[in-house]
Amino acid sequence: MDNEIIKPSYIKNPDYITGKKDEAEAYNFTCLTFEETLQLNYKRQIENSWTGKGPNLSEEEYLQLRQHYHIGVANKSKEGGFPVFDKIICKTCNAEYFTYIGIDEPLNSMYQIQVQGIMRNASKNVDKL
Ligand SMILES: [Zn+2]
Repeated sequence: MDNEIIKPSYIKNPDYITGKKDEAEAYNFTCLTFEETLQLNYKRQIENSWTGKGPNLSEEEYLQLRQHYHIGVANKSKEGGFPVFDKIICKTCNAEYFTYIGIDEPLNSMYQIQVQGIMRNASKNVDKL
């Protein structure tokens, strides 16, 4: 099974733009186990951009993700923004998903977000019916 739901790309339109494309609060994706809808909340990613990661992501996971996605010392996301990582856990089956977004602030308090990666944590067992 391919655990990567979204793979990074250079050319991509923002999924979220403050004031323009912010009707949707979250990026929806489907859990690979029972096809539940999971949500990557944009505002939470903006809050996480201070540290570059969500609070439930361990330092070790953070470093592994940076390595997996080839984030270098310049700390640039694939499309040129600032990389922010998070972990989303499916409440139904306990599957874990690592998320990677690129965030840009072209104007003060105006944010652009590009969802660059969503990947299931293959080392975590999920609950089955
Ligand atoms: Zn699930």
